[in-house]
Amino acid sequence: ESLDQGLQKTSESIFSKLSKAVVGKSQVDEEVLDQLEEILITSDVGVDTTIKVIRRIEERVARDKYLNSSELDVILREEIASLLEENNTQDLLDFDIPADRKPYVLMVVGVNGVGKTTTIGKLANLFKNAGKSVVLGAADTFRAAAVDQLILWGERVGVPVVSHGMNTDPASVAFDAVKQGVDTGADIVIIDTAGRLHTKVNLMNELGKIKRVMQKFIPDAPHEILLVLDGSTGQNAFIQAKEFTKVTEISALAITKLDGTAKGGVVIGISDQFKIPVKYIGVGEKMTDLQLFNRREFVDSLFK
Ligand code: GDP
Repeated sequence: ESLDQGLQKTSESIFSKLSKAVVGKSQVDEEVLDQLEEILITSDVGVDTTIKVIRRIEERVARDKYLNSSELDVILREEIASLLEENNTQDLLDFDIPADRKPYVLMVVGVNGVGKTTTIGKLANLFKNAGKSVVLGAADTFRAAAVDQLILWGERVGVPVVSHGMNTDPASVAFDAVKQGVDTGADIVIIDTAGRLHTKVNLMNELGKIKRVMQKFIPDAPHEILLVLDGSTGQNAFIQAKEFTKVTEISALAITKLDGTAKGGVVIGISDQFKIPVKYIGVGEKMTDLQLFNRREFVDSLFK
């Protein structure tokens, strides 16, 4: 699926609401701004970010005295883009890791059901197609389904999966996965982890232990800690981002299920509130339904 197709629901929604708000208006007034505010809130942009966007547009209206709807469109695009971080999409595929420091270690966190396992499968496929060798580590040992599913994804994509089965020590799985990555000269090791947020201290300890064991091989590992959030859950995604950033250092976000939601505003709000770059977005259940996040494309798709 293309980005436009994948985000169609999101796009149609924000765009159609906005165009209705400005139809027949030659000038951006209080009423248009009120409607815009409501659109942003109902698209799950979040209150704080919505207020910020509205305030900036009010400033522009005050400064320029007169603003028509097509100018509003341009300004809104600029404002939304400014809240999102720019990725160099090529960098997302070419981790510049010197040969003696390989592999690049990516640790993936997130609560159950958000699409963590699926995203890992899609990432493995993405990296493999970019010519990288990948090892997966099934360190979400709390759920049998998670281990089995990851093994299935490994088979589907054609990459090895290190697993010790259910209820085994996650750190030991991570240790063996990174070791296999080092021994086989792999480019990237992706470690799945358990997402039990209700036992925050346990999770913190578990993730800490996983990090320490991989640092026996690679002192600066993990190079990335990716939090997976379900973009269709609105406020829950915000809460999870808040909780996970307390538990561990999150360096990147993957936002899933943007194909089935009119709530794509989550991407804007979370980027702004947490200042963590969104690097990947999930737009379907298939292996290829993962996009490298590009803020221009994303913003344009909201207005198509
Ligand atoms: P986990 O519990 O976080 O590992 O979640 P899974 O990877 O098992 O995914 C949960 C469900 O969400 C599965 O049915 C996936 O097919 C589905 N899923 C994951 N990512 C996406 C996405 O981007 N779009 C859609 N529509 N479904 C997704």
